[in-house]
Amino acid sequence: MFEDLKWLVELQKLDSQIYRLTSEERNIENMIQRMKHEIEELAINRVKIIRKQRELQEDKEIYQTDILDHRRILDQKQIDLNNDKKTKKEHIKREVKKLEKAVEVFEDRVVALTNETNAISQEVDSNDKSISKIKKKIRSEEKKKQVLSKLSENELQKLIKKKQKIEKTIRKPFLNHYDRIMKIRNGIAITFVTDEGLCNGCKIHIPYQFQQKIKLKDDYNNCEGCGRILVDIEMLESK
Ligand SMILES: [Zn+2]
Repeated sequence: MFEDLKWLVELQKLDSQIYRLTSEERNIENMIQRMKHEIEELAINRVKIIRKQRELQEDKEIYQTDILDHRRILDQKQIDLNNDKKTKKEHIKREVKKLEKAVEVFEDRVVALTNETNAISQEVDSNDKSISKIKKKIRSEEKKKQVLSKLSENELQKLIKKKQKIEKTIRKPFLNHYDRIMKIRNGIAITFVTDEGLCNGCKIHIPYQFQQKIKLKDDYNNCEGCGRILVDIEMLESK
């Protein structure tokens, strides 16, 4: 039998054990990454709504200034009303009405803008609460992960030692190729042909002649679909 292939199969078996041993840690790590991403999005949202709040606040200040200006004019009109001749008074009264109406409209706007900025304050508040809740969850998941990795540490070290021993027996180009497929194919670099004649990795059909060639166990055969090394199923099953 082709020696490198035999050792590559052993390597795959070890890697599968390592993969299983660390799967829960990996799941937790993925969850942590998702939560970190969530925090980033919340932080971006925070910046956005605070900017919006500042714009509303500026609008509000403009209206408040306008109200003060109008009130000053109204005070002046009041003085005019007391001093001017009768003929002019009707005209001044009309102006006063107009100014008062404007002040009313501005005051309504100020109330609406105040409500809006208050609503945003609440939104910021709940945004921040969500962030700290997620941060807390991340810390607890990280602790869980630490405990798990402590538990599996010894076994993992043993498997890694075995793995290193086997790696030394495999010629470099084959090992490199194996590592490359491992990386891009989710931890499965070596697979077999199913009873239906399909690559068990990517489910493409393997021609009959190629299947026969694989059964000979004396060559390095790659699936054309996924690049995985194809071996006889017996090789993967035997201990
Ligand atoms: Zn395949």
